[in-house]
Amino acid sequence: MRLFDSHCHLDFPEFDPDRAALLAECRLRGIAGFIIPTIGASNWRRVMALAASEPELFFALGVHPCFVADQPEDVMAQLETLAAERPAGLVAIGECGLDGRSHLVQEGQLALFEAQVRLAMEMDLPLIVHSVRANDDVLKILRRNKPARGGVIHAFSGSLHQAERFWQLGFKLGIGGTITYERANKTREAVAAMPLESLLLETDSPDMPLSGAQGQRNSPLSLLKVLDELASIKRLPVEHVARVLCESTCHSFHLNK
Ligand SMILES: [Zn+2]
Repeated sequence: MRLFDSHCHLDFPEFDPDRAALLAECRLRGIAGFIIPTIGASNWRRVMALAASEPELFFALGVHPCFVADQPEDVMAQLETLAAERPAGLVAIGECGLDGRSHLVQEGQLALFEAQVRLAMEMDLPLIVHSVRANDDVLKILRRNKPARGGVIHAFSGSLHQAERFWQLGFKLGIGGTITYERANKTREAVAAMPLESLLLETDSPDMPLSGAQGQRNSPLSLLKVLDELASIKRLPVEHVARVLCESTCHSFHLNK
């Protein structure tokens, strides 16, 4: 069995004490690849250096909507220049998107998200999209631009209707710890009804701990529990789900299997 964590922040300081040991344990358990999204100009170089240290680490370059206010004025120009160098291991633009919990939605977030959608289109790269309480606005921007390579709506949370619309636009749904919570009924129902090919596995670690582990550091090892939960929601054998999702991840991000 080979699994990919399509979204984990392995560069965050929470992993400083045991990063190498954690990656070694992941390898033993069949977690064979990781995509590390960036959050802004402050961590692009750090993530690139980390990804260069291990062959199973890939990364995305982008500006996270919650960190829009912390960016230098010419952040898009810097991002374009860096992405144009096509550094080895770059597989997507992101994470970018909209976060309805933040006050910045009307201001910087919308413009910066749309600029990153356009950059992904120019670069022929998929997008890693952060959409929190903003699915309808994210859909609007994606529909307006129709990025050909699509991408993933990371940590998808929403209705079946929204899930279908993202999928129609060429976007997969990132499935992580959310589905382990009983109260996430709407999302679990959407996941149950969507085709397996429309889903990708992720942990968003160190954030988004699974049900029962609230307050603890999340790690890519929890991918195995997310996989079990997903297989049980879909009523399919774990090995089958693992194989389809591994193929989808490789296909979406052009990873070598
Ligand atoms: Zn993230």
